[in-house]
Amino acid sequence: MRRFPEPIQNAVASLSRLPGVGPKTALRYVYALLKLPKHDLHVMARTLVELAERVRTCGTCFLLSETEQCEICADGRRDRSMVCVVEESRDVATVEATGTFRGRYHVLGGTLNPIEGITPDVLRIRELGERLQADGNIREVILALSPNVHGEATMMYLAKLLSPLGRRVTRLARGLPIGATVEYADEITLGDAMKGRRDA
Ligand code: ZN
Repeated sequence: MRRFPEPIQNAVASLSRLPGVGPKTALRYVYALLKLPKHDLHVMARTLVELAERVRTCGTCFLLSETEQCEICADGRRDRSMVCVVEESRDVATVEATGTFRGRYHVLGGTLNPIEGITPDVLRIRELGERLQADGNIREVILALSPNVHGEATMMYLAKLLSPLGRRVTRLARGLPIGATVEYADEITLGDAMKGRRDA
C-alpha cells in the first residue's frame, strides 16, 4: 500500500478506533476533513480536546457529566427509592425519553462478555453493591439491560448477587424483542416495558 504522509496515517489510525470505521472509511473521512477550511479543522480538534478535558463520570451513578454529581443525581425531585441499571450513558437518554421513570440510574459500563474480557470486575458492579449498602433509601433496582445473550447473563448475575441485599430487583417486561438493544428501542415500547416490569 502506498505510504501516506505521517499526519494522514495518524489520523487514519485514530479514526479507525471508532466503531464501524475501518481503515478505508477512515481514509475517506481524512480526505473529507482535508477539504474543509483549516479553521473548521481547528474547531473540530478543540471539541475533541474539550471531550477529554470536560467530560467525566458522575461520582454516584457513572453517567457522563460535566460535574462531580450529574444533573439527575443532583435533582432533589427525583425518586430516591428507585435505581435503574443501564449498560451505557446513552441508554439513560433513551429511558428518560419515555418519561416513565423518575428515579435515578446506575451506568454499568457494558454487559458481561468473558470471551472479550468483560468480567464482573470490569463493570461497575461492585460500585452498585456499595451504593445499595450505603443508601438505605433505595428500595427497588430495575435492570434495564438489553434482552440479548450478554444482557440476559448480566441480569441473571446481578439478580443473584443483589438478592441478599433485601431490595426488590425487577427487569423490564417482555415488550422488547429478544435480542434487541435498549439503545434502539422506541420510546413507547420501552415505556411500556418499564411500566410492566416484573421481578427478576
Ligand atoms: Zn449521577
